[in-house]
Amino acid sequence: MADDSPSVPPFVSSHPETMAITAGRADNDAALAPVVWTSTAFETPSFAAAARMAHSPAPKRFYGRFGNPGVAAFEDAIAQLEGAEGARAFSSGMGAVFACVFTMCSPGSHIVAQHQLYGGTNSLLTGLCPRFGIDVTFVDGTKPGAFAEAVRPGKTMLVFAETPANPWVEVVDLDELGQLAPFTVVDSTLATPLGQQPLAHGVNLVLHSATKAIAGHNDATLGVVAGEQDLIDWIWGFSVLQGANASPYDANNGLRGLRSLGPRFRQQTDTAIAVATWLEAREDVTRVAHPGLASHPQAALAARQMRLTGGVLACELRGGADAGRRFVDSVRLCRQATSLGGPETLVTHPASTTHAGMTDEEMAEAGITPGTIRVSAGLEHADDIIADLAAALSA
Ligand SMILES: *Cc1c(COP(=O)(O)O)cnc(C)c1O
Repeated sequence: MADDSPSVPPFVSSHPETMAITAGRADNDAALAPVVWTSTAFETPSFAAAARMAHSPAPKRFYGRFGNPGVAAFEDAIAQLEGAEGARAFSSGMGAVFACVFTMCSPGSHIVAQHQLYGGTNSLLTGLCPRFGIDVTFVDGTKPGAFAEAVRPGKTMLVFAETPANPWVEVVDLDELGQLAPFTVVDSTLATPLGQQPLAHGVNLVLHSATKAIAGHNDATLGVVAGEQDLIDWIWGFSVLQGANASPYDANNGLRGLRSLGPRFRQQTDTAIAVATWLEAREDVTRVAHPGLASHPQAALAARQMRLTGGVLACELRGGADAGRRFVDSVRLCRQATSLGGPETLVTHPASTTHAGMTDEEMAEAGITPGTIRVSAGLEHADDIIADLAAALSA
């Protein structure tokens, strides 16, 4: 098509809603939809090209574990949305977390992380890291200066933060993380690139479980890390041996999900705020948290660093464990499932599911009780979600 294309320069926008539509099209030819490249092997044009591709980071047309044109399109789109030089996709969010930790840390390294974290990340830091001689200090991520105080000069390799954090949507001040350790990583899954941009605050790397709102339809298991190109190349070198590279099919669903992330994420944010506001007025609910509520302990910080506060909220039922069990067993429109960011509103009982791997003490430190419920707002009408939750609370 090159011959008769008019020569107009590409439209450049700084709005993430627009970037989510325009990014990641380099290898599309004339196709509007993202293209799936199923081939694991690619013909190399020459001996010299094969030798070069075997030794340089992320060749798109060499061998599947090294790279893939469709996966690269997803990576390019995420990099652009995060304001990053590069990105590497993984077969899951945990694949991305694992690569960040084990690329940067060796026996004797020290990590500072927060108490409130995704359950899998917590298990990796408390279970796997000590086995490999990596020491982890956990801090209250909401306390100003807490990460800085725990840093051991010369020892701390990595500061790992999650914001908003699972499940109580605690917010970490991104401006405090910037230069704390050789490497700072933020898990921005609950915010998506539409909600905040950690790299603009001086953080080195941002990662997502794209399984959640980015792919957005509960049909892809996918992770991604974005940041400076030299760090991404370093992570790529680890990941090519780790083998947790993204499937071309899942990366395709990730890129397709990005195309509609703008309106989906905005609606999920609005719905979460409506549901949280309604829950706050209920007698049988003792605590409600969403970063967009005026009552959130860090509402001002969230307003400063987030464009949109996202679809996840948490609440505490007055009746404890019994009420929690009855509630998740009684929803009809909402689904009892452990994920977030998809079209269906999901209710989760973290103490028995996402965070079941924690000790009682770790759970207490993360604020997870038997009455804690996490809600991921979907795309149904907010009035229907509220009606369903009302019926389940009265059950
Ligand atoms: C789900 C999730 C992960 C892990 O992602 P997977 O794709 O399930 O491996 C990591 N961090 C957060 C905040 C998550 O919600």
